[in-house]
Amino acid sequence: MDQSKTGELIRSLRQRQGLTQLQLAEIIGVSDKAVSKWERGGGAPDIASLPQLAAALGTDAETLLRGELPTDRQANGNVKKLRFYVCPRCGNGLTALDGAAVSCCGQRLTALEAQKADEVHGFRIEESDGDWYVRMEHEMNREHGISFIALLTEDMLMLKKLYPQWCAEARFPRYCHGSLYFYCTKHGLFRDVL
Ligand SMILES: [Zn+2]
Ligand SMILES: [Zn+2]
Repeated sequence: MDQSKTGELIRSLRQRQGLTQLQLAEIIGVSDKAVSKWERGGGAPDIASLPQLAAALGTDAETLLRGELPTDRQANGNVKKLRFYVCPRCGNGLTALDGAAVSCCGQRLTALEAQKADEVHGFRIEESDGDWYVRMEHEMNREHGISFIALLTEDMLMLKKLYPQWCAEARFPRYCHGSLYFYCTKHGLFRDVL
């Protein structure tokens, strides 16, 4: 068991359920300090409370121990080689298959490296009306905002463009699974798994 991987997974699933550390702690009957410690990889939940923790997070104990969601829920296939680009001059967002030479405003662009979703850059995901309803608590203004949310499945890219003052939210069909990407104009590209 890799405690830091398990910790990261606990954090991302908790955020996805829309729970605070305290709320999760109360559900499983531990202190919020314990939850915070697990999430930082500083300790592991004890075996007896694992099933309850997993259930609260909408997963199973085995997945928590492994520290990652089953691979069949991650994007694979050709589209996986898709890269995201954002032009630093005009803010244009572009996608292309790996290896393509992409330019905008007379400048060659470098593919963005996706970072893992964090406390500020994380989703709340709910099922609603046959959709995945994906929402972020993130400011949305000209200097700092989310400019797109995209879902990349094995064979499809769905990209929702967002503008300042809009809500940082998107809907994707419930049957779709893959990687969620979003771009923060200040902090760059992030990735999560749906
Ligand atoms: Zn440009
Ligand atoms: Zn940001």
